[in-house]
Amino acid sequence: MKDIDILIIGAGISGSVLAERYANIGKKVLIIEKRNHIAGNCYDYIDENGILVSKYGAHLFHTNEESVWKYVNQFSEWYPWEHKVVARVDTKTVPIPVNITTVNELFDAKITNEEEMKEWLEKHRSPIATPSNGEEAVLSRVGPHLYEKMFKHYTKKQWDKYPSELDASVLERIPVRTNYDDRYFSDVYQALPKGGYTQLFENILNHPNIEVLLETDYFDVKDDFTNYGKLFYTGPVDRFFAFKHSLLEKLEYRSINFVSETIDAEFYQENSVVNYPGMEVDFTRIIEYKHFGNQKSEKTTIVKEFTVDEGEPYYPVPNPRNQEIYTKYKAEADQLVDVYFVGRLANYKYFNMDQAFKNAFDLFDALEKTTKSTYKTAV
Ligand code: FAD
Repeated sequence: MKDIDILIIGAGISGSVLAERYANIGKKVLIIEKRNHIAGNCYDYIDENGILVSKYGAHLFHTNEESVWKYVNQFSEWYPWEHKVVARVDTKTVPIPVNITTVNELFDAKITNEEEMKEWLEKHRSPIATPSNGEEAVLSRVGPHLYEKMFKHYTKKQWDKYPSELDASVLERIPVRTNYDDRYFSDVYQALPKGGYTQLFENILNHPNIEVLLETDYFDVKDDFTNYGKLFYTGPVDRFFAFKHSLLEKLEYRSINFVSETIDAEFYQENSVVNYPGMEVDFTRIIEYKHFGNQKSEKTTIVKEFTVDEGEPYYPVPNPRNQEIYTKYKAEADQLVDVYFVGRLANYKYFNMDQAFKNAFDLFDALEKTTKSTYKTAV
């Protein structure tokens, strides 16, 4: 087996950025990816209706990080996309995050300005200074009425736990707008890649020093690839230490069933994403991909998302028990030499795309400071 400078497990954001960085300082990089495609959870493709769809849920790029924005612009053109989400609540359709319109629609309030919205929130929120769980976190921000309609059941569907069973941190930063702003994100840069995410990753990985081995689970071929300079692992941290499962408990993850349907109509719904926060349906949201980039097609594709226990791990479950178990895995990981755990699953932490980009190139900078001036810098 030939020597590899850099062995990377996973061709998602973390793996691809590290591959690009190392390839540009002359290192030979091999990426091993278990799926039959690159781009990790950002993967998209043209479906049978001629529509660009994301296989693992809609991915909206948003960042305040200048360095990340400059980095991704090297590999794709981007078009501005200010994402909006609406929710079907009872018989009404309201903006998310909660804003003046949401409260007016749901409670027949007559709020007209920021001051009145702040007063409404002040009057309804529960006086909890230090929330001890997710329920208290929401109650302290918006009070029981919005909690019941917008957060309680949605959280149960998403996590299979009521907010009271989750850390306060999971829900304490829920955005609440005191104006009419109905954008889902408020970051400076909000955009989508013109040719899609898969093309963005093809461009990141387009370097003679990078080889990608698809449809290969690292743990099936591990013993064939022991001769590396550095190993970057971006899969689930507990899987890496599976041989120690008798000592360490398994971490919990949430997965999603994506159920796709073709609808013989120009459009199915008025917006790209419609959330269903109530218990009347099992799915959490419906995505209609045609809205992104105003795509044209005779039919339309919708995808219902059902959050489930079993399947591909997508979301770490943030509660004290998992945090404690993760700390033990991290202690094991820290003892390894020339092996780095990078990204969402390896750090058991939800990262937005921009955080994943930044973590990966920050790690590269930290490890290769001495050669910093010789690589194609992103900033
Ligand atoms: P991943 O993309 O998960 O890449 C890890 C790769 O490693 C995968 O390709 C996997 O197949 C591979 N792998 C794992 N184990 C092995 C193994 N044993 N052998 C070989 N290969 C292996 N972020 C946003 O900013 N905006 C959004 O709108 C957004 N929407 C999201 C929607 C959903 C449903 C999900 C789940 C995430 C969303 N994200 C969003 C987050 C975004 O997907 C992550 O930030 C990003 O994917 C993290 O990249 P990563 O490289 O850490 O992990």
